[in-house]
Amino acid sequence: MLSRIDLRGREPSVGELRNRLPRAGMDVEHALSAVRPVLDDVAERGVPAALEHTERFDGVRPEGVRIPSGELRRALDELDPEVRKALEVSAERARRVHADQRREDVTTEVAAGGTVTERWVPVSRVGLYAPGGLAAYPSSVVMNVVPAQAAGVESLVVCSPPQAEFGGRPHPTTLAAAALLGVDEVWAVGGAQAVGLLAFGGSDTDGTPLRPVDMVTGPGNVYVTAAKRRLRNVIGIDAEAGPTEIAILADDTADPAHVAADLISQAEHDTLAASVLVTPSEELAGAVDEQLRERVPATRHAERIRTALTGQQSGCVLVDSLSEGIRVVDAYAAEHLEIQTEDSSSVAARVRNAGAIFVGPYAPVSLGDYCAGSNHVLPTGGCARHSSGLSVQSFLRGIHVVDYTRQALHEVADQVVALADAEDLPAHGEAVTARFA
Ligand code: NAD
Repeated sequence: MLSRIDLRGREPSVGELRNRLPRAGMDVEHALSAVRPVLDDVAERGVPAALEHTERFDGVRPEGVRIPSGELRRALDELDPEVRKALEVSAERARRVHADQRREDVTTEVAAGGTVTERWVPVSRVGLYAPGGLAAYPSSVVMNVVPAQAAGVESLVVCSPPQAEFGGRPHPTTLAAAALLGVDEVWAVGGAQAVGLLAFGGSDTDGTPLRPVDMVTGPGNVYVTAAKRRLRNVIGIDAEAGPTEIAILADDTADPAHVAADLISQAEHDTLAASVLVTPSEELAGAVDEQLRERVPATRHAERIRTALTGQQSGCVLVDSLSEGIRVVDAYAAEHLEIQTEDSSSVAARVRNAGAIFVGPYAPVSLGDYCAGSNHVLPTGGCARHSSGLSVQSFLRGIHVVDYTRQALHEVADQVVALADAEDLPAHGEAVTARFA
């Protein structure tokens, strides 16, 4: 079922690998032309414009944008107890991991009386986008809210598209997840109009102010991504989340049934999702293919999964050795990388590029999607070469606080003047010498 890329007997360079490895595309540039007029309209007219575009794209017109807090509590009260328990476990584990990411302020004494302190200050107000077009994503509420709260963000608003079948409210499980995490501000708005309203603010239909935010995070479809790209000079954004990716580096110690199940699990997200197997074992490749042919027709979303697995973004890469496999997965820089090999921990330790690494036979990616404690908002499209997933750090700014005494400044004055003169900016030097005239 997976197309084969046979790299045995060759040693392609990293550049060649990047070109040859399968990769999904997302045409954000095309979506930009669709979202530009929506964003301009929301910037100018606020809520009335957002509601009009909601009616057009979501087929429903809510009475207002902000969900009353009584409705959030009711959604939580009415939540299926098993789903509530699962969300609690997910949030509790994520909280433990993200609490350990918090950074202390650090003061460095550069000279006697001269210090630089790096102060970590949370962003004040953040908008968290929980998608809701094709499916509900309460797990994304957890993955965005938990690190923001751990960072100390004071004010959070969750946005999610209104659903006609729920009377113009976002999906009830999304509302319940927000309530469970203690978020009391939820807006029923999605797509580009949500990003616009978060960036510019407005006044709700009953006059309630909808305050603009400083930053928007969270996954979304191509229109949400295009809107975030368009407004990145107005608000801070997290990385652009493209279609999901799983790469599995496996040898003949791996169980083909597990490998196939994990490739299928990520293909379930999206027809553009990428599932890539990298292996030195032709026998494993054959056995995984057999498992895929058996399992795919039996899954609920068989068509979507088949399209993703047979698309140009998925495939099986045959390599000469595990070391060559590590070179391949490093060049690919997958959002999710599984290592299903002998001595998987040592193999994982040699990998440099991945959004998250899942080690050994008992760490499938779907554990990380929900309940590992790790964050599931991760860099896609090769961005794991230079970026990390969402974390407490994403919501903090490091501010250098420079504190020098007269003596400490005097000690370094000659060097400041020398560099200022070298750059032909003498007034810079004079700002120092004036203090000792
Ligand atoms: P969404 O909430 O992102 O988008 C729905 C909105 O798109 C609607 O509210 C509508 O206003 C807007 N829209 C729809 N058609 C439009 C058009 N033609 N022009 C302008 N706007 C339009 O929900 P979705 O569509 O289900 O997409 C969710 C995406 O998020 C999926 O691709 C999924 O894979 C991804 N996701 C990623 C992660 C991650 O961590 N990487 C997690 C969850 C979801």
